Amino acid sequence: MSQQTKYETVIGLEVHCQLSTESKLFCSCPTNFGADVNKNTCPVCLGYPGALPVFNEKVIEYAVLFALGVGAEIKPKSYFARKQYFYPDLPKGYQITQFDKPYCEGGGILLSSGKKINLIRAHIEEDAGKSIHAEEYSYIDLNRAGIPLLEIVSEPELRTAAEASEYLKKLRMLVKYLGISDANLEEGSFRCDANISLRKHGDLEYGTRCEVKNLNSYRHIEQAIHYEVLRQSDLLDNGEKVVQQTLLFEESSGKTKPMRGKEDAHDYRYFSDPDLKAIVVSSDLVLQVKARMPKLPDQVYQHFTGNLGLTHQDATVLSSDKNVANFYEQLLTNLDSKLNEKQIANWLIETYLPASQQFSWDLAKPEISIDAFTSLLVMFSEGSISSTAAKKVFLYMIETKKTAKECVTELGLDQVNDKSVIVETVRKVLADNALQVEELKSGKQKVYGYLVGQVMKSSKGKFNPKLVNQLLQELLDEYK
Ligand code: ADP
Ligand code: MG
Ligand code: ZN
Repeated sequence: MSQQTKYETVIGLEVHCQLSTESKLFCSCPTNFGADVNKNTCPVCLGYPGALPVFNEKVIEYAVLFALGVGAEIKPKSYFARKQYFYPDLPKGYQITQFDKPYCEGGGILLSSGKKINLIRAHIEEDAGKSIHAEEYSYIDLNRAGIPLLEIVSEPELRTAAEASEYLKKLRMLVKYLGISDANLEEGSFRCDANISLRKHGDLEYGTRCEVKNLNSYRHIEQAIHYEVLRQSDLLDNGEKVVQQTLLFEESSGKTKPMRGKEDAHDYRYFSDPDLKAIVVSSDLVLQVKARMPKLPDQVYQHFTGNLGLTHQDATVLSSDKNVANFYEQLLTNLDSKLNEKQIANWLIETYLPASQQFSWDLAKPEISIDAFTSLLVMFSEGSISSTAAKKVFLYMIETKKTAKECVTELGLDQVNDKSVIVETVRKVLADNALQVEELKSGKQKVYGYLVGQVMKSSKGKFNPKLVNQLLQELLDEYK
């Protein structure tokens, strides 16, 4: 399509990320998802007149972790403001948020192409409640009201739907690594508003943007961007203007639909919240948080490809999730070079992870524990089971929840490594096949395979094939 080459797409994303503190931002109500409707509420988050907010200090720690994780500048003093608007699920009539004095400015996210997407800012604010629209009535659930959010605002530096999607994946991976958010897409704890505009290639000024609200799947974000690019380029081609507005994405049609005209900041009549003091981030606090900083995804990737010599592909999979990376590193420690890094990566990627996805295990506490999986791999590394048998055993472990050893026995897969047992069978096979032995001696090499087969057959496949070969050779030499 011609329009796709005629205009350059400009995208800036605002991400709302729920911080996983145990209590809300300004009261002690719990934050667990799925509690009974309106259970996690109190006079503060219900917006009763006269109830006073008390700032949850844990939020600063999380916020500082984030700022350090994206290499941003942390402001020693920042402030809360009231953003006034009317919404049925906003009982106070205003949202407490940071406006002109956010705690964090700058920083960025590095895409795999090497392009850095800079951040304008990140700030702390409270979430609103949730409206539930049923057939006849609408309902309001205020459990979410007052849960701490980090709003992360990018510069308009993204240029394609694919870049936007990668940026979000990297950002989401980062907050999960930092342990500051579960970033659960389905539960809405990581959601995004996409600002999209077009301009002619070479133009220095940005075009008029539209903002698509509350996207919570990568696919929807890409669809919404593709649709907006088509819609806006049609308008521009016809000499019309793009009107700045707020849009909603409609899943069923894959289209965006107008929600409301776009407000400007002055519509919200922001003012500094008189009930709350400044947030002060001391340099001591920054140092303390820095000391607890976990390894970040890019560092883990570097470690896996650099020190451990994994391929780009394997390292990408294993570093994409903190729990997966931890699982892998724990296996390395447990197995203590009984298998090499690459072998362990293969077992994890080809056998364990597909099952964990199929059965939706939480890798922080999976159904087949690291230790259980380790003991399976130990048996394999010691040659007491073959790799095919190990895979069977793994499936049987999932089914029965029994230990690897128990499963091996129940499946009758124990490999026999006892030389004295094997040698006896080998002798017997040689004696029973005197004719074939003669043929082998006269140079008919094919017969060798036949003899191995006979030995394995009489052991029902349980003999260690390496030992069978070794002992067969030894005994045949005696025959010569
Ligand atoms: P708000 O949406 O609250 O008015 P901002 O003006 O700070 O806030 O912009 C929010 C987002 O819009 C930022 O991510 C920014 O990158 C993006 N943005 C600003 N101008 C444009 C534009 N012309 N095209 C696309 N995105 C834009
Ligand atoms: Mg906005
Ligand atoms: Zn409360």
